[in-house]
Amino acid sequence: MKFFRPISVRKPLFLTLIVLLMTGISMQAAEPKKNQSRDSIADKYKWNIADLFASNDEWKQKKNEVDGQFEKIASYKGLLGQSAARLYEALEFYHNVEKEFARLMIYANLQSDQDTRVSENLAMKQEMGQMGTRLEKTAAFMEPEILAIPDAAIEQFFKTEPKLEKYRMYIDDIQRRKAHTLSEPEEKIVAEAGRMSGTAQEIYSILSNADLPYPTIKLSDGREVRLDAQGYSGSRASNVREDRINVFNSFFGALDGYRRTFGTELNAEVQKNIFYKNVRNYESCLQRALDKNNIPVSVYHKLIENVNKNLPTLHRYLKLRKRMLGVEELHYYDMYPSLVPNVDLKVSWDEATEEIKKALAVLGEQYVATLDKAFNSRWIDAFPNPGKRSGAYSSGGAYDVHPYILMNYNGQYDDMSTLAHELGHTMHSYFSNKNQPYVNASYPIFLAEVASTANEALLMDYSLKKIKDQDKRLSLLGNYLEDFRTTLFRQTQFAEFELKIHELAEKGEALTGDKFTEIYLDILKRYYGHNEGVTVIDDLYGIEWAYIPHFYYNFYVFQYSTSFTASQALAEKMIHGGPEMVKKYLNFLSSGRSDYAIPTLKKVGVDMTTDEPFNLAMKKMNAVMDEIEHILDAKGK
Ligand SMILES: [Zn+2]
Repeated sequence: MKFFRPISVRKPLFLTLIVLLMTGISMQAAEPKKNQSRDSIADKYKWNIADLFASNDEWKQKKNEVDGQFEKIASYKGLLGQSAARLYEALEFYHNVEKEFARLMIYANLQSDQDTRVSENLAMKQEMGQMGTRLEKTAAFMEPEILAIPDAAIEQFFKTEPKLEKYRMYIDDIQRRKAHTLSEPEEKIVAEAGRMSGTAQEIYSILSNADLPYPTIKLSDGREVRLDAQGYSGSRASNVREDRINVFNSFFGALDGYRRTFGTELNAEVQKNIFYKNVRNYESCLQRALDKNNIPVSVYHKLIENVNKNLPTLHRYLKLRKRMLGVEELHYYDMYPSLVPNVDLKVSWDEATEEIKKALAVLGEQYVATLDKAFNSRWIDAFPNPGKRSGAYSSGGAYDVHPYILMNYNGQYDDMSTLAHELGHTMHSYFSNKNQPYVNASYPIFLAEVASTANEALLMDYSLKKIKDQDKRLSLLGNYLEDFRTTLFRQTQFAEFELKIHELAEKGEALTGDKFTEIYLDILKRYYGHNEGVTVIDDLYGIEWAYIPHFYYNFYVFQYSTSFTASQALAEKMIHGGPEMVKKYLNFLSSGRSDYAIPTLKKVGVDMTTDEPFNLAMKKMNAVMDEIEHILDAKGK
């Protein structure tokens, strides 16, 4: 499960598709293939962008054509509520332009990403960025106009124009916000206030990324590190405990010196959310934030409740960590070092594609046949080459073509796992594109990481059944456990903090840096079992909240936990499922945004309003720990 940056959900579909699916993976150390030129790599390992456009000339021609259609979009302004026929015509026209635009943009992005050094590629990408902004501006009138159509009139529209049916979900998703929409002059004032709404986050970003005087420390090997956020995350996993203590105390000490400023910024962000909650008539900041994706607040509360109920499972892991690290007392600075030295698990590309097909065979023949298409029809750009963008992503926005995957495959198990992850996105896009009209093809953000993470879990399950070497097993199992801690527990810990500070502010309590630290420390100590003697949490680490930029993303992080939970539950169900489950899963992959996220998951048997998915995830986590303990006992460790 990799962090994805938040984006506004009501953005045009093409932006959702592009931004969403990037996966930050770090590049592995040198391997012979790394510096091979792009030309020397066989075609079958490179994506074929000619499936989008045969040449740059053809691309340019199409771009001019699409550009010429913007004017016609604008000509519908003021007419959407006029008649069913007119509304249908406008929606068809607009979405077709958007679809063609997405194809143009993906061509420019892929070409630029395969060699970022070519300035013509970069120029094409930048042109598309500007064109996207113009498209967004041109079409900005559509949502408010649709929102303004009275309910009765819309119902009549659906009756007189049956073709409009394919836009029902799109229209409903706009119209359901009526209760929180104000009169026109009021909306103008709210829009004006938008000028100030990003300020807290901007100041936070400047202070933490640029102005704060971060300390430089000397590690035990003589190396000097500047402990900014990057330096901290790069050195906190050191195997030398003295270094970890030094890193933690110096970094958090530096943040603590600015706790009043950090506190004032975060309070400003919370007050902004209260402003919008009040003027838009929501009961709470949480309700407003979740309403964007039509997620009931009970899903959020249930997550926190379940995590708290299952803290003994986290504590079991922490005790296991203590045993494996061989320390007398486990401290917060002992969280990051690997439990076992990472073992070499080499997998060639051709082996990886075969292994993934076997691991995902439980998803059915049609799924595996589509994997074959992805591997054999040049959907994937497999290997690094000089100038290529780093990391990995899946890009599913070329509706009429096929998804693409960028990889920097380096022959390790982690690379294979990343490939399985990206294939999860790609299959989700492929089946949704194939089965939904364009307007409903891109899946909602709440579901974005479910199919991808489920694939990782299935690959893990398959690999563990196959690999017999105990050290290799320990390494895989240990990394898996860390996923549970950092994705499920830690993100919920953040979500609980976020909820608590908003609730206090809603009651009118003052929030300062010291107050934030007090609240954060209380939650941190509870999660890590400080009072039960599981982990020692020094008071200084209560300032950790100042290090987390996500508190400026408006109740975003809980989705890391919910999608991880959903994917673990889903993987469990697929492993034990059979043909009925395969059918349901393909329906899930094919559903795009034809329904809201929670009912969509419910149809595949994962009901996020109940405890079941969470309990399945905990069962899995406990099984992983059983296995580790079993291996350790056998080794006499
Ligand atoms: Zn992903």
